[in-house]
Amino acid sequence: MCEFCLEHGEGRKWYLEAKNYGLDLASDINRQQAFQKFTKKMAAASGEDFHTRMEKLENAPFFVKRLARWKTVRNMKKFHYGQIVPIEDVERIFEFVNQIVRTSCLCRKALTGEEKRYCYGVSMGPGNRNLDKVFGELAPGFTGSPDPKGNEVVTKEEALASFRELEKEGLCHSVWTFVSPFIGGMCNCDRPDCFAMQMTVAHGTPVMFRGEYVAETDRDSCDGCRQCMRVCQFGAIGYSAGQKKSRIDPRQCYGCGICRSVCKKNAIHLKDRARVPAAANIW
Ligand code: SF4
Ligand code: SF4
Repeated sequence: MCEFCLEHGEGRKWYLEAKNYGLDLASDINRQQAFQKFTKKMAAASGEDFHTRMEKLENAPFFVKRLARWKTVRNMKKFHYGQIVPIEDVERIFEFVNQIVRTSCLCRKALTGEEKRYCYGVSMGPGNRNLDKVFGELAPGFTGSPDPKGNEVVTKEEALASFRELEKEGLCHSVWTFVSPFIGGMCNCDRPDCFAMQMTVAHGTPVMFRGEYVAETDRDSCDGCRQCMRVCQFGAIGYSAGQKKSRIDPRQCYGCGICRSVCKKNAIHLKDRARVPAAANIW
């Protein structure tokens, strides 16, 4: 169990607890303000600034680097922290949320300049104030993007189908708080175009937990095709040329489950992280 499961999920997966999803973002002034501040900051962000800041941090003296990372992680845990979730848990989340809104991804926009509709707002709101309008009111600069679709209300089936398609392209799913533990968004991430993945994986500043799972291969079924290695964004899969089999390092695995979607031999399954001693305490 990650820290949030213990703090906000009473020992169960925190993101599967309905109480952690807000009724309506617009009804909480603190969340509104925090969300507005965040979208404004993201709308002004650029890939160049991000890389310059990260390079500066990497070259800073050890204690400065350590303090800066600690502060970032602490602040992000309070406001906007994420966790990797496999498709089964995405499906479970969609079973109980009431509203889903597809919107374009702030990270992609800032890092690549492109509009990619990979982000989803989720809410338990009863529907008297549609989430798309709330998003539109709270982040007008963002929704006024060149993408003419703006914020689209989608059904659970449409959202899930889109997550499955994106998984085939190698994107992994994540769930996000907007003022923790209130969960307001879900995304489909890939390392080069995601601030969070870059900070977490490449810059030693985790702003998302690993998934509650770890992948394992069934060595008898594996035929060594190496397709799984191609899609793993965390460098967790190695290959034994002698045995002609792939092998997953549980200490590197983020439990996204994406490798399963390309394995024609069905040789990969997810196991509870807690049951894998080598990975149980790595988040
Ligand atoms: S994709 Fe499946 S069969 Fe191919 S190497 Fe990976 S685990 Fe083995
Ligand atoms: S090995 Fe782990 S991190 Fe890599 S794709 Fe599979 S589940 Fe994700």
